[in-house]
Amino acid sequence: MKGTLHEIFSSIQGEGLYVGVRQIFLRFTGCNLHCSYCDTNDSTAGYREKFPVEMDPGTSRFEYYRNPVAPEELLKIVLQLKPEIHHSLSLTGGEPLLQADFLAEFLPLFRGRCPVFLETNGTLPKNLSKLLPYLDIISMDIKLPSVTNYACWHDQEEFINIALEKELYVKVVLTENTTQEELEQIMKLMAKADPGIPLVLQPVTPVNRVREMIPGKYIQIQDYFGTALKNVRVIPQTHKILNLL
Ligand code: SF4
Repeated sequence: MKGTLHEIFSSIQGEGLYVGVRQIFLRFTGCNLHCSYCDTNDSTAGYREKFPVEMDPGTSRFEYYRNPVAPEELLKIVLQLKPEIHHSLSLTGGEPLLQADFLAEFLPLFRGRCPVFLETNGTLPKNLSKLLPYLDIISMDIKLPSVTNYACWHDQEEFINIALEKELYVKVVLTENTTQEELEQIMKLMAKADPGIPLVLQPVTPVNRVREMIPGKYIQIQDYFGTALKNVRVIPQTHKILNLL
């Protein structure tokens, strides 16, 4: 089994509950959604013949490797980036769970080097099940119908229930188009699964025609979720401020 990568580099996690930690990012190619604010459009576009790999952590000095890669080859590449000085290995995209069969071969080889952190759109519960034994932290985005034009509440509910076996937090990007009905659905899903799951509300970074809410609304929405959930935070994207990858 071989995988297709978009890029590999070392940087600082810029979103969510683990903002600020140092990670190796394995960005996989392809996604099953089309969010209006997607900031990785080039990785969702599909296959790349060659992908850049940072040669020394933090140097932005890249060399190119050929797709697709075998699990053993990917292990060699990742070890060059020194997992031992990183908080975790982030599987990101695109949607990394589209390559669950490849990851089910790669992750057992990587095991024990540093924790494994999955960043996912939370719509592929069956693929998540295949990888669960190898994951440490799951960062699940709930993508809203107002940005995807597609409701997948049932898959998202199934996903949360499987992911609960691991350390899980949920993130939702708020835009000026987020509706009260969407907020109620998130509340219902999370309160039913476990009110202790942390929820991160992330103001959208304006892109294309997608706009932010008026700032006062974040407080109202945090208060709303606070009536049923125990840990609700508002955290914007920070890597954009720092101009990092
Ligand atoms: S799920 Fe993530 S990678 Fe896929 S389109 Fe949406 S923002 Fe982009």
